[in-house]
Amino acid sequence: MTAAYVSTRIDEVRNILDNARAEGKTIGLVPTMGALHEGHLTLVDETKRRADFVVATIFVNPTQFGPGEDLDKYPKDSDGDLEKLANRGVNLVFTPDKQVIYPSGFLTAVAVKGLTEKLCGADRPTHFAGVTTVVSKLFNIMGPCVAVFGRKDYQQLQVIKRMAADLNMPVEVVGVPTLREEDGLAMSSRNRYLSPEERVRGRAISQGLTAAHKLFNEGIRNVGQLRKTVLLPVEAAADSVDYVSAADPDILETIPDDVEAGERLLIAVAAKIGTTRLIDNTVLGEDAPPYPTDSPTHFK
Ligand code: AMP
Repeated sequence: MTAAYVSTRIDEVRNILDNARAEGKTIGLVPTMGALHEGHLTLVDETKRRADFVVATIFVNPTQFGPGEDLDKYPKDSDGDLEKLANRGVNLVFTPDKQVIYPSGFLTAVAVKGLTEKLCGADRPTHFAGVTTVVSKLFNIMGPCVAVFGRKDYQQLQVIKRMAADLNMPVEVVGVPTLREEDGLAMSSRNRYLSPEERVRGRAISQGLTAAHKLFNEGIRNVGQLRKTVLLPVEAAADSVDYVSAADPDILETIPDDVEAGERLLIAVAAKIGTTRLIDNTVLGEDAPPYPTDSPTHFK
C-alpha cells in the first residue's frame, strides 16, 4: 500500500501542490464527502489518467444540507476512506474541519441561477449554492487543472461546469459514468441506510431507467411514454416520489410529456425508500443503460 499524505491545513496543502507544480506535475482533484465506495474510486482512476498528482478531499459540507436533512447522521468511515484512497494511488488527501472551510465571519456564497432551480433544486432550494460555494473554495485552495465528478449527481455536474465556465475558472470539469451494484442500484454512500427489504425495492429505479433505454432503442420518442416507463415502477416501489422528470440534458429544462424527444433525453429520478432519498438518472441516446436491456432476469 502506498500511503497518501493527509492534511487538514490549507497552507500545507497549498505548499505540497505548489511543490508538485514546480516539478512540472499537473494536479487533479476529486471532491468527496467520504464514506467512500467503488463509485468514488472510479473518479480517482479517471483523475489519475488525466493528471500527474491526485488530491482527494473528504469534507461533509454543512452548507449543502437543508434543515431536517441527514447532516448529523451522514455516514463516516475515516480510516476505511484513507486506506481506500491510498490503495488507489491518491497522492494527497485534504480533510479539513468545518472551521477551516467556514471560519467565523464567513459571508460569501457562489450561486448559479436557473439550472439550480430545476429537478433537485425544487425540493432542496439551498443545496446547490452550498455545493458551488464549497467547490469554488476547493478550486481556489488547490488550483487543479482537472476536477472529476460523478454523473450520478448529474445536475451537480452541470451546475459545476456552468460555474467554472461563467467564472472563467481555469479547470476542466470532467464527468464519470455512474457505477452501479450488480442489480443496477446506483452506488451511493446513503445506500447503507437501506434495510434489506428497502434495498430490494431500490432496484425499481434502475429497472425503470433500463426499461426506458429499451424503448428508446426500439425507436420510441414520446416523452410521456418514456418518462412513465420509469415513473410507474418507481411509484410502485418507493414510499414517496420527489420527481421523475424528462429534461434537456444540457439546460435541464423539463420536457413536457406530449413532445417527441430529440437525439438525447435526460430522465432523472429522486424518490424516498423508507427515509432514504435516492437519486439516479440516465441520458437516453448517450449513456449505457444501468444493465443490459436484453437481461430479462433483472425485470423479475
Ligand atoms: P459524494 O461523496 O456523495 O459527495 O460524492 C462525491 C463524488 O462522487 C461526486 O462527484 C459524485 O457524483 C460521485 N459519485 C457518487 N456516487 C457515484 C457513483 N455511483 N458512480 C460514480 N460517481 C459517483
